[in-house]
Formats: sequence, C-alpha cells, structure tokens
Amino acid sequence: MFELSQDHETFRKVVREFAEGEIAPHVAQWDREHHLPLDIVHAMGDLGLFGLVAPEEYGGSGGDFTSLCVAIEELGRVDQSIGITLEAAVGLGINPIASYGTAEQKQRWLPDLVAGRALAAFGLTEPEAGSDAGATRTRAVLDGGHWTINGAKAFITNSGTDITSVVSITARTGPDEISTLLVPSGTAGFVVEPAYDKLGWHISDTHGLTFADCVVPEDNLLGQRGKGFAQFLAVLDEGRIAISALAVGLAQGCLDVSRRYALERHTFGAPIGSRQAVAFALSDLAVSVEAARLLTYKAAWLKDSGRSREQIKQAASMAKLYSTEAAVAATRIATQVFGGNGFMEEFPVARFYRDAKILEIGEGTSEVQRMLIARGLGLPVS
Ligand SMILES: Cc1cc2nc3c(=O)[nH]c(=O)nc-3n(C[C@H](O)[C@H](O)[C@H](O)COP(=O)(O)OP(=O)(O)OC[C@H]3O[C@@H](n4cnc5c(N)ncnc54)[C@H](O)[C@@H]3O)c2cc1C
Repeated sequence: MFELSQDHETFRKVVREFAEGEIAPHVAQWDREHHLPLDIVHAMGDLGLFGLVAPEEYGGSGGDFTSLCVAIEELGRVDQSIGITLEAAVGLGINPIASYGTAEQKQRWLPDLVAGRALAAFGLTEPEAGSDAGATRTRAVLDGGHWTINGAKAFITNSGTDITSVVSITARTGPDEISTLLVPSGTAGFVVEPAYDKLGWHISDTHGLTFADCVVPEDNLLGQRGKGFAQFLAVLDEGRIAISALAVGLAQGCLDVSRRYALERHTFGAPIGSRQAVAFALSDLAVSVEAARLLTYKAAWLKDSGRSREQIKQAASMAKLYSTEAAVAATRIATQVFGGNGFMEEFPVARFYRDAKILEIGEGTSEVQRMLIARGLGLPVS
C-alpha cells in the first residue's frame, strides 16, 4: 500500500480546506492570546472529526483509524495546537470510554464528545510519574459504594476548557493495582489548576489537576478494576500513531512554506532556492516527510487491518520516534530558510519551531520509544 484510497484523499481535501479557511487566518492571534476558540471545536464537531472512529450508535461514523490520521495531519499542517486538541480529544478522551466503558458510561459521555459539544481528557502523568507511569501515587479507596480519590496529575490536555465534561484518571486502588476512574468536571474535591505557561502549543488547553477527598460513585470505574495500566498502554499505542500523523503535518507544513519562501526570497540577484545549500536542505526535508508519512500510515494500516498488538506497538513506536524527530528537524530547517524572518512571530515557522519540541516528549518520549523498539527486538533493555 503506497497510497491512500480515493475516499481518504477526498476527505483530506475537505479537512485541508477547513484548516486553511477557518484556522490559518486566525491562528497567530489565538496563539498570541493563548486561546482555544470553542467555536472551532464545535465546527470540527460539525465536520464529524471527533466521531471519525466512534461507533455510529453514539453519533460517530465508525470509520477507520487512517481517516483520523489524515484529519490530524491536515490540521497539524496548519497548527499543532488545534491538531493536538483533536488528537487528545479522540485518542485520550473518547477512545478509553468507547473501548472500556459500560453501556451506561458510553451513553452518558460519548454523544456530546463525538459531536464536539464536549471534550474529555486522560490523566495519567503525575508530578512524580511520567515515563515511569507505573509509579502512580494517586490513590482511590472504595468504601460504601464510592471511590475517594486523593492525588495529583500533571500536564493534562483538554482538561480545563469550559466544555470539558469528564477526565479519566489512573489511580492506585490496591497495593499492586492501578485502575481507571471517570471524574466528571465540577466534582467536589477535583480542582483544575491554572493553565501552564508553555513554550509552545499555546492554543492547546493544559492543566495540572488535584484531587482532595474527591468522591465519585463506584460505577465510575472504567474497565476492569486493576487493568488501568494495561488499558493506558493500549490507548497509548494508538495515540502514538496519531502523534506521528501530527508530526507529519508539521513537517509537511514546514516544507510547503519553506519551498514557497525559497522561490520568493531573492539574495544576490537570484531566489535563495537556486542555491544548493537551501535547495538541498529542502530536498532532505522532502525525503523525511515522505519517510515519516509512510511509517505513520503503515502503522495506521496495521491497526485498521487488525494486525497483532505486538506488530502495531512496534510500528507505532517506530513511526512516533521517526516522525517527531523529523518534525523537530523540519522546523529547524524551515526557520533557517526564512532567515531573520524565521525568528519573527509574524511568520508561521516561528510558531512551528516552538510547537515542535513537545512531539518528542508527549505520549512517550523518544527515549521511551527507543526502549520499546529495542524490547520489540528482543533486547533486555530496561
Ligand atoms: C503540553 C503537554 C501535554 C501533555 N498532555 C498529557 C495528557 O493529556 N495526559 C497525560 O497523562 N500526560 C500528558 N503529558 C505528559 C507527557 O506524556 C509526559 O511529560 C511524558 O510522558 C514524559 O514524562 P515526564 O515529563 O515525567 O518526564 P520524565 O519521565 O521525568 O523524563 C525525563 C527525561 O528522562 C528520560 N527518561 C526517563 N526514564 C528513562 C529511561 N528509563 N531510560 C532512558 N531515558 C529515560 C525521558 O525520556 C526524558 O528525556 C503532557 C505533557 C505536556 C508537556
């Protein structure tokens, strides 16, 4: 498979038009104001983006994972914050509930999430547990039909918007037991801390969360008790493919704007694109975009074809590792091609440069991906 289907390409055009028409003209201002416009979230909902892989009975289109990657790539080509808003809303918000929720939980939360009327978040990371997520300290104690939660989560995407309806969090529910619990927004004892002051992803909503004697009903357990760790590992496998698509979008965005600039900008009487130093840098960038895209859509295809968990996991880590490092390199090349203008917020490459670095960190750092790939090779790396 070396090209996507006609349906995927038609869908790509629709999302590209939306991104270029509705997002690109305003994104610099939203970024400056650190503002996630909920109108855009609702418009993405109207376009069906949140429901691409969700079951039809909850308003989704029950489509394939490849379509979701296409949507994330196209949004990410214009702006990473909007791309991650979709990626986290679906991969970390909707998917855990759709995959592990009871019929009642799905009925309660999914219709609004799928329509883009609400956002959900996934709280795994803690101040003392990131890569080492098994070191989770947040505790939940079951007593009298209720869970009482105490602890803290760090860096949680989409957790504090005006339309965030629920956060699923991992918590220690026994000595060697991690489970997932659904905590509705507004629950007493659940505090959303002020938004972080971030290097990039200014439009994306990110908060620390604290839980102080926060009580939720026993039924808010998501999936099986004690399976929270296994569940989040599965969630992250898919998430890594989606982050890879986001990175492909960024690298493609860098290539597109730099190629244009290299034709327009003249020095010494000729376009800078006529200089080998610039042209070859863009050649290398084009190769890395192509390689990243192939790895990403191969991983998505493995998932859509129902291949084994091991195959998908390995492909997801390889795609995430390569694409995110390619995206960071792409922003460096693009900024260089733009010269002094590349350092100015007036041009998109400055925002791309700030937004890129987190790709190598979120949903498993590059080091964690290398560790997982090495384990997939049968090496006893720890
Ligand atoms: C903007 C943003 C949004 C985020 N959104 C979410 C979200 O929605 N939900 C969520 O749960 N989390 C979220 N995260 C958290 C993110 O997934 C973690 O930051 C990431 O997994 C790394 O964890 P850490 O920050 O604790 O770094 P650490 O685990 O402390 O790692 C620090 C460094 O040490 C390296 N390292 C650690 N262990 C090893 C090892 N064994 N071998 C080699 N190197 C190692 C790491 O690779 C890294 O370079 C978000 C983070 C950010 C910044």
